[in-house]
Amino acid sequence: MKKIVQSIVVLLIVSFVVVAGLLALKKKDENISIVTTNFPSYDFARAITKGIPDANIKMLVSPGVEIHDYEPTPQDIIDIKNSDYFIYTGGESDHWVENILNNINPDQTKVIRLIDLVETKEEEPISGPEEDRDHEDDHHHSDIDEHVWTSLRNSIKIIQALEKEFISQNPDEPKYSQNATFYINELELIDNDIQEIVKNAKLKTLVFGDRFPLRYFIDDYGLDYYAAFPGCSERTEASASTIAFLVDIVKAKKIPVIFHIELSDGEIASEISKSTGAKVLEFHSAHNISKNDFDSGVTYAEIMRNNLNALKEALNESY
Ligand SMILES: [Zn+2]
Repeated sequence: MKKIVQSIVVLLIVSFVVVAGLLALKKKDENISIVTTNFPSYDFARAITKGIPDANIKMLVSPGVEIHDYEPTPQDIIDIKNSDYFIYTGGESDHWVENILNNINPDQTKVIRLIDLVETKEEEPISGPEEDRDHEDDHHHSDIDEHVWTSLRNSIKIIQALEKEFISQNPDEPKYSQNATFYINELELIDNDIQEIVKNAKLKTLVFGDRFPLRYFIDDYGLDYYAAFPGCSERTEASASTIAFLVDIVKAKKIPVIFHIELSDGEIASEISKSTGAKVLEFHSAHNISKNDFDSGVTYAEIMRNNLNALKEALNESY
């Protein structure tokens, strides 16, 4: 009898441990914590997990800060190590990630690189006056262009890949798929609208009095471009010959809009504007957004919608 009681007690303890273990497992499944380096990944993760109370998403770069200047804090590293998913670009702006990858436990944290989810292109040297091209940072020429998210079609592929990942972690959560489908539809509409604008446009050339992180975007629509600097070059001051070159293009092609990109002082664009009368507009490459926009919940889709409106003006001859 004593033995039977003992067995029952052991059985009860075992059952308790098993149930507690399952509950712990269940709890882990229902939580999802995601750390991202830049705004686009943050926005996609936020859109896919919308309405899921236990989703916790952290963007490492603070709103309004130039992503290329970002350095991780010790707390950032701890947050990455404790996350279920760590999403980074895999390019020039987050080279620091390579140094911490060895410290990430793959059983705890799944690491996702955006450049692995789409077809990448190499950063392109800009067209410009010969003397400036010679001075271009040569070591950048063979780098992968990391700005894959500037293409709406790439962003759709990235969202689909993230959706699949999150569903694999919790197949019982129907919201991942519903949210992803909803957001992809929104991006497809913007993509279609831009195709329509380009199809009916008088011009097919854009001029950036700034850096040019938009190759993936431009290529989707077969547009042409001229820019002061390639990719996310650290240079901010253009030579007189670069400015003269861009001024000539604007005049010759009757280009009505000069673009600057977000978080830039827009100096070069306004200088070209002064000599040509062309209007200066912002083209937002969505690396990061301002604190105000972040606090009011501005989305990647809204940013691209604004770009679409700016494009409409830029692709129609004004004089
Ligand atoms: Zn960049």
